[in-house]
Amino acid sequence: MLSVMNTLERCGRGATPTDLSMDTRRQQYLDALGIIRWVPRGEVAEPAGFANTPVISGATAIPPPMPAALRQSPNTESDAREWTELETAVRGCTKCSLHATRTQTVFGVGHRRAQWMFIGEAPGADEDRQGEPFVGRAGQLLNAILFAIGLKREEVYIANVLKCRPPGNRDPQPEEVIQCEPYLLRQIELIKPRLIVALGRHAAHSLLKTEVPLGKLRGQRLSYHGTPLIVTYHPAYLLRNPADKRKVWDDLCLAKTVMAAMPDPDREAS
Ligand code: URA
Repeated sequence: MLSVMNTLERCGRGATPTDLSMDTRRQQYLDALGIIRWVPRGEVAEPAGFANTPVISGATAIPPPMPAALRQSPNTESDAREWTELETAVRGCTKCSLHATRTQTVFGVGHRRAQWMFIGEAPGADEDRQGEPFVGRAGQLLNAILFAIGLKREEVYIANVLKCRPPGNRDPQPEEVIQCEPYLLRQIELIKPRLIVALGRHAAHSLLKTEVPLGKLRGQRLSYHGTPLIVTYHPAYLLRNPADKRKVWDDLCLAKTVMAAMPDPDREAS
């Protein structure tokens, strides 16, 4: 077992001096995620550290700089105009009945040239109140997951299939998805992420137009309108089922592998 490579390396990166200075901090996140970190043969394996509390207090704190997972080219003026138009359209949307019960729309957050896009299902109560996706307990766990794989919240883009909260957090209805999806598609067109991660069953089923169980969708490089897509469990599910955190780690390692295997158009252009 100890010959298994270091978990971080298995996710596609060897350790660098910068990585090492981040190691202790990242280990805390991995512990909170319940990830066992294997060390090379001959060294002492760190304890599994399966924290009972899956959300780390202060998980939203910004960690020291990491290599940016951002595209180089700046947004053009017309991009900025299109973003404004899209935001205005979403803010005023009355295409489905959810507009009547929302506090506000929840557009999306993050870098508009992000390489990684994470898509959840729909805003919950916290998101409806604050106008930002994944800000509640599930959001804190998502932040920890991002940090554990070497990403920061502000360098990815996070959005939901639905921009309005379904009352009582009920499941999104097919009609609501049909009405709302064009907004998400436009976001994707503008961001041009290199990879999408679908968070949870509802997001995966809505995006992929399938009823195939999430367990069967995991572990594959799928595609959403031409963009590679990886499916994993929703952070809220992980809060209820912490034993499955390992599977999320595996899914995100796959995502990193898929990302690493793709040509980077920005690097090639420079
Ligand atoms: N769950 C989601 O799917 N999205 C959010 O923004 C919050 C919780």
